[in-house]
Amino acid sequence: MVHPILVWQPQKIFYNERSGVPAQPSPSPDRAAGAQAAGPGSASPVSLTLASAPLAGEPAAGEILIPGVKGRTRRPAAKPPRHLADLPMDERRAAVAGLGQPPFRASQLSRHFFGRYTDQADEMSDLPRDSRDALTESLLPQLLTADRELVCDGGTTRKTLWHTFDGALVESVLMRYPDRVTMCVSSQAGCGMACPFCATGQAGLTRNLSTAEIVAQVVAGARLLADGEVPGGPGRVSNVVFMGMGEPLANYAAVLAAVRRLTDPVPEGMGISQRSVTVSTVGLVPAIARLAAERLSVTLAVSLHAPDDELRDTLVPVNRRWKVSEVLDAAWAYADATGRRISIEYALIRDVNDQAWRADLLGSLLAGRLVHVNLIPLNPTPGSKWTASRPEAQREFVRRLEAHGVPVTVRDTRGREIDGACGQLAASAR
Ligand code: SAH
Repeated sequence: MVHPILVWQPQKIFYNERSGVPAQPSPSPDRAAGAQAAGPGSASPVSLTLASAPLAGEPAAGEILIPGVKGRTRRPAAKPPRHLADLPMDERRAAVAGLGQPPFRASQLSRHFFGRYTDQADEMSDLPRDSRDALTESLLPQLLTADRELVCDGGTTRKTLWHTFDGALVESVLMRYPDRVTMCVSSQAGCGMACPFCATGQAGLTRNLSTAEIVAQVVAGARLLADGEVPGGPGRVSNVVFMGMGEPLANYAAVLAAVRRLTDPVPEGMGISQRSVTVSTVGLVPAIARLAAERLSVTLAVSLHAPDDELRDTLVPVNRRWKVSEVLDAAWAYADATGRRISIEYALIRDVNDQAWRADLLGSLLAGRLVHVNLIPLNPTPGSKWTASRPEAQREFVRRLEAHGVPVTVRDTRGREIDGACGQLAASAR
């Protein structure tokens, strides 16, 4: 029998050798069909350039191929409307002044959005009636529209499928636990990293999200909680994890600005603790180093999924560029710079990466480090040949990591019945 991973064909990944950050691979024609008018990564405020000239027949950055149309069709990059959450406070003030309003209105608007979670003019009674509409229209445009809402766990897990102004689909999930509320957010519409077990990876990248499109997912959850619409009484978002659709470090500038907006105090931002924010990455080494230099207290999660390059090259294709040892060295440098424990994500896939020897190899790589392993039972994507590990294999994996002194937990599988795994809801909508 041919092993499934041997027949899987990865996508091409381009790298910007100067920044070391992978450029967004342009969507293939069948993906462009799903993306409709949405442009690729260049649509975002931070556009990443291709390292080399595109191959013949390949669309260049900023272009998409329209199926059925001969030759290349250029479309202007789709850029989300400007929103207050895209801007630091001084630029908000300048934007308000540009509308002929006194600059202090920027702070009033910001309190409404980041502190009261509203962008509705009729809920802003401290603003003169005649300026409310102009201010909200110009600085608080609606960026996300909910298409579907799926709820489970008695209403304490809620997954929302959103569409953006240009029809791109993104997902966010709210998970309420007894002691915290975690919002899992998307940083890109789709993803270019091509991990074969991930629904988002299989669908490819549509475009980067803007800072405000990321922040708006959290504000929407905060509003539901504040309004008492999540069982358990009124509450707040305490944690944010960048584990929805997309590779956050491939949309670096927008994600970093979003982290600042989420964690700066009201009115600059939402006032969530930096320690309660987790950025999860496939392991883009230069971007990890850049994040370490920001000296934030956010947690870094590394999606490792295999301790050896041979297997990781297939499960996380970007490993062909940055090997396991390089990714782990970057993670340890991050831990040194920030004092934060590294979270290693490892999806347990039956007979693929769950062997006892791999647990031992992983344990030996991690022993003695400031680290925690999160084992995630694989949530199979539709049509996948892969499935979660057998309970005995999972138990043995845990036991062997613990024998190396490595702290490990098996992640709870909330939201499975609502297509909880990354990208599954958007995939089924497509
Ligand atoms: N691109 C980032 C963040 C998004 S995915 C990253 O890779 O870290 C968040 C986590 O869910 C990653 O660890 C990812 O590998 C994992 N994941 C994706 N699809 C999964 C699936 N079908 N079952 C279990 N985990 C999955």
